[in-house]
Amino acid sequence: MMFMRGNAACPGCPIPRELDALLEVTGEKTVLVVPASCTTVILGDNRGMPSKVPVVHSAFAASPAIASGLKAALNARGEKATVVVWAGDGGTGDIGFASLSGAAERNEDILYVCYDNEAYMNTGIQRSGLTPFGAWTTTTPLGKKERKKPLPQLIAEHGVPYVATASIAYVFDYQAKVRKAKDILGFRYIHLLSPCPPGWRYDSSLTVEIAKVAVETGIWPLYEVEKGKFRLTSISKTLLDKKKRKPVTEYLKLQGRFSELTEEEKGTIQQEVDEMWEWLAKMESSNS
Ligand code: SF4
Repeated sequence: MMFMRGNAACPGCPIPRELDALLEVTGEKTVLVVPASCTTVILGDNRGMPSKVPVVHSAFAASPAIASGLKAALNARGEKATVVVWAGDGGTGDIGFASLSGAAERNEDILYVCYDNEAYMNTGIQRSGLTPFGAWTTTTPLGKKERKKPLPQLIAEHGVPYVATASIAYVFDYQAKVRKAKDILGFRYIHLLSPCPPGWRYDSSLTVEIAKVAVETGIWPLYEVEKGKFRLTSISKTLLDKKKRKPVTEYLKLQGRFSELTEEEKGTIQQEVDEMWEWLAKMESSNS
C-alpha cells in the first residue's frame, strides 16, 4: 500500500484508492504535484502524511509548470522518476487550464491525472467548467445550464502522445492506462471520473456503483488516444451497440444532485449521450 488509510478523506471518497492504484503502478520513484484541491486537504491534515512518495503542494494555476521544471531538474541530475500532476477538475479545466495547455503544447515529459469530481468540492461544492449539465451545486441551485467542458478531447487536440479516460470502478483498465502512460516519453493525460458522496449527494457506500453505472450508461466512455489513434477500452468497446447501454436515468437517479431534473432535461442528457456515441463510433472506426 503506497497511500495510507486513516487519512482525512470523507467516508466513501475514492481519492485514496485512486492514488493508491496509481502509485501501485508508478512506484516509489514518483513525485506528486498537487494544486489546491480535496487532495491538498487529505495530504495536509494534522493526522500525518498518508503518501509514501514526495508531494509538492502548488498554487492552483501552477502545477503543470512546476512539474515541468521538476522533471527538467531531475533529468539534469540524472535521476529517473515519474512526475505526476494530480489535480481536480477546477485546477485542471478552469484555473489551471492555461499552464496545462502550455505543458501539453511543449510536450513536457509529465503524467497529468485529473480526478474529476465535477465541482469545487473542498470549498463548498461550487460549479466548475466540468460540472455536467443539469447538476445541482451550491452556485447552480436550479441545475447547471451549461454543458461540461470536453477536456480529454481538448488535450488530445494538442497532439500529445497519450490521452485516456478512466473510472475507479474499472481499476484494471485504469492501471493499464497508468502503466502505458508511465513508459511513454512526453505529455500524458488521464481523465478519471471521481464520484464525491457529499458533492453528488449520495450514500457513501455507492461510490464504486456510481462510477460503474456511469460507464454502463455510456455517460463516461472509457477510451485512449495513443499517438493520435483512438480506441475504446474495457466494457466501453461493447457499448457501441446502443442496446447494451443502460438508460442514463439509471445513473441520474442514484444522485441527489440530479433529483430536480425535469423529464425534458433527462431526455436532453440521453440525447447528448447518444450523439456522443455516434462520434465515438466514428472515432473507433477511423482507426480500424
Ligand atoms: S468532498 Fe468529495 S472529493 Fe472531497 S474529500 Fe470529500 S468525498 Fe472526497
